[in-house]
Amino acid sequence: MAKLHKWSAGFVVISLLFAITASGKELTIQDDAVRFSLNHHIEYFLDKDLPLDQILQREQWHKKHNDSVLNLGFTGQSVWLRTSLTIPEPLTRQWYLVIPYPLLEEVDLYILRDKQQPAIYHTSRQETENQRERAHSYQVALPLPRDLNGQVELFLRARSATSLQVPLELWREDHLLNRFSLESLYWGAYFGVLFALVVYNLFLFLSIRDSAYGYYVLYIGSISLLMLCISGVGSAWIWGGQPLLTRYALPISTALVSLFALMFARSFLKWQEISSRWDRSMKIAAVLAGLLIVYTWASPIHGALFAGLLGTLVIVLLISVGLAGLRAGVTIARYFVLAWTTFALGTALYLLNVFNFIPVNVVTNHAMQVGSAAEVLLLSFALAHRIKDERARKLAALRRQQLAERQVRDLEMQSLEQAMHDSTTRMPNASLLNQQLQTMMSQNKQVALTLVHYPQIKDIASSMGHRLAEEMFCQLMNKLNHTLAGQDGVICLESRQLAYIAIPEFGSAAFLIDVKQLEGPLEPLINQMVGNHDISVHSVRLPVFMNLHCGVAVAPEHGDSAEILYQHASAAQDRSESSKVPVQVYNDEISDFARRRLNLVTALPPAIEAGELELYLQPQMNSTGQELVGAEILLRWHSPRFGPVPAGEVIEIAENAGLMDLLSRYIVTQAWKTMQTLQERQLNITCSINLSVQNLTNSHFVSFALAGIREHGIPMNRVIFEVTETSMMHNMDAVIGSLLQIANSGCMIALDDFGTGYSSLAYLSRLPIHELKIDRCFISQMASNENDLRIVQNTLKLARTLNLEAVAEGVEDNSTRELLTQLGCHRLQGYLFARPMPLEKFCDWATAQTTN
Ligand code: C2E
Ligand code: CA
Ligand code: CA
Repeated sequence: MAKLHKWSAGFVVISLLFAITASGKELTIQDDAVRFSLNHHIEYFLDKDLPLDQILQREQWHKKHNDSVLNLGFTGQSVWLRTSLTIPEPLTRQWYLVIPYPLLEEVDLYILRDKQQPAIYHTSRQETENQRERAHSYQVALPLPRDLNGQVELFLRARSATSLQVPLELWREDHLLNRFSLESLYWGAYFGVLFALVVYNLFLFLSIRDSAYGYYVLYIGSISLLMLCISGVGSAWIWGGQPLLTRYALPISTALVSLFALMFARSFLKWQEISSRWDRSMKIAAVLAGLLIVYTWASPIHGALFAGLLGTLVIVLLISVGLAGLRAGVTIARYFVLAWTTFALGTALYLLNVFNFIPVNVVTNHAMQVGSAAEVLLLSFALAHRIKDERARKLAALRRQQLAERQVRDLEMQSLEQAMHDSTTRMPNASLLNQQLQTMMSQNKQVALTLVHYPQIKDIASSMGHRLAEEMFCQLMNKLNHTLAGQDGVICLESRQLAYIAIPEFGSAAFLIDVKQLEGPLEPLINQMVGNHDISVHSVRLPVFMNLHCGVAVAPEHGDSAEILYQHASAAQDRSESSKVPVQVYNDEISDFARRRLNLVTALPPAIEAGELELYLQPQMNSTGQELVGAEILLRWHSPRFGPVPAGEVIEIAENAGLMDLLSRYIVTQAWKTMQTLQERQLNITCSINLSVQNLTNSHFVSFALAGIREHGIPMNRVIFEVTETSMMHNMDAVIGSLLQIANSGCMIALDDFGTGYSSLAYLSRLPIHELKIDRCFISQMASNENDLRIVQNTLKLARTLNLEAVAEGVEDNSTRELLTQLGCHRLQGYLFARPMPLEKFCDWATAQTTN
């Protein structure tokens, strides 16, 4: 503080040095002029409160060297000014001595004629303001006596609580009133803008309840107060006659401006969320502002000085915060920075003027008003922008929420879709079909449930890969669906994708028929619907004929609940599989069959245990059919309870009931004993043993079988293991492993039922097989059917190419035998030579054969 005093004092000294040469020229005042500036006609000195007569005695007055405003900076002292006027004719109009600086607290004017005491006139600010009814003036305007003339000297004493500036002007009354009304207009506009903004933002605050608007209203309120002080409007209109009030109001309003500006900034930029460091700085500045308010009560003059410093600090801080916010990506901060920079410029100009660093003029005196008006407008833009932003944010949040809701809905739909659909084909699954079935049954409709199974699909999946199998299955299902779509009575399960079929599992399909809508008997119609689905696979480019087993059950005849209907349709499907009839409608016989199956399953293990199962031998002849070269070992079960059970059925039951390992171990053990017997009887022929796929995927079994051969002292090359083509399709790696194990042991491998599967040449050549066994279905008709004959011819050619033995099974007549002999088939097997027979009988047969 003391430093600042010294500072301004230093400035004054420098000004003095300049002033020495300048002399106070006398001014001539005439009525026809309107306004004079007295700034370069004055002499002055700073003093405490000396009485007028001592002032008159004083010799040393400082002279002002130019017409700049006398500005003494912050000082608590009074300044005395004197100037001389020459008034040639008595003034007829009212003239005023005007000091366009509202912050002077005390002003006394004495008019003397030639320094002669007593003064002919005395007035003061206090006095004129007490007669304020005439005109409100923002500045000090002291009336001069009407009849003043001749040579007069004016002595003026002025005192300020803040910066001591004494601009001196003479105004003719009419002109001064003009100026006052202009100023009123100007201030009216200025405070009008502020008032409108207060109302607008107060309204926003009340409706949005966002503290930023509240602080902004308080901020505008306090800046209005500050401006009331600085402009003199406050003392002119509000606290007229109380010039001391300005002394307190000025620093307090500055502190309040700082405080609310900081609070506004914090809540507007949501600064505390971005950087705690800046936030802390703002809090400290806010505390300083609070302290300043308290301090001002104790020392308003120092308070005003500190208010100036605090204001500067806060403006710098706010601009920095705005810039930091801008860097942190808060776009709205750009208004903020602009607003505070505008305000800072205005305030800087004003403060530089107040602290006497730049000359006083209209611009510097009003810079702060202009700056603050621009600032509050810019901040209002910012707040409006914020509303826009907020709305956009809310809208975005709403959109996000809607999106999330949609996603949840989609997900629900998707899971519903998944719950009701097959993942591979996207067709409905069993539960959708079941719903439809139950609805139809509850409406007492006659509905046929049809189950179709494609056994090859799963084989293809395990041999050629799932992708291919899936592709084939989808193709197949699309074809079936397409076929069903054109049929009367077939129920559409899902109208959205016109789905007529459901997929209960991979490789199977199911559909419903409203029987009443059919014209004609059910079975042939279904036969026509499901049959004839050749499909061609792109990657293999092979048309594949799809085998199928189809079971049908009709409600209400075959069951009055969906569950029973399913059970019966699948029993019919099983029957279709075992009887090789593609479409099987459920009947009572089928339920007998199913029951028998169940009984057989329970009867099989004890039957094995009891040795009820036997091995029969069927001879294999050389290519002319004259010489016995081998035998196929075939299983026989003559059950005391069920009668003879076909080998195929026993195998199927064992496979389905998980009894295959048990059964096969029994079979091979018996087979080795059989071979041993043959050897003992000097029948050195090969024996072919059938293996099921389950034997080939079980490496323990293969090892067990091979060990048995060695134990029984049977030459390995006399054993031929027969494996079917289709069994190769399951778990190919394991199957090939077993085949290699067999081939490496020295045993032979025959590919059974050749021609019924879909072996490709390329892959046949890679398997360690020795023999192709042409299926009975080709052999039995080859003598009469061209097609079959060609297939047999080609198979034999293939066997020759691959250097494999060819065996024909099912040779039942001589013409077939002759044909095969001609074609060079290596071995022949069939009823023509002998049916399968028990060991003893076989040995007898063989002996008879050699003796013939
Ligand atoms: P497969 O391996 O194709 O056996 C040949 C089948 O054709 C035998 O039926 C046999 O009796 C029959 N057969 C032979 N020559 C003729 C003929 O000239 N005309 C006709 N119509 N049929 C003839 P079987 O014994 O009923 O066996 C059926 C299937 O059961 C066998 O077909 C085989 O796949 C399986 N099988 C039989 N025994 C065993 C076995 O011990 N283990 C395994 N895993 N499967 C066996
Ligand atoms: Ca066989
Ligand atoms: Ca066969």
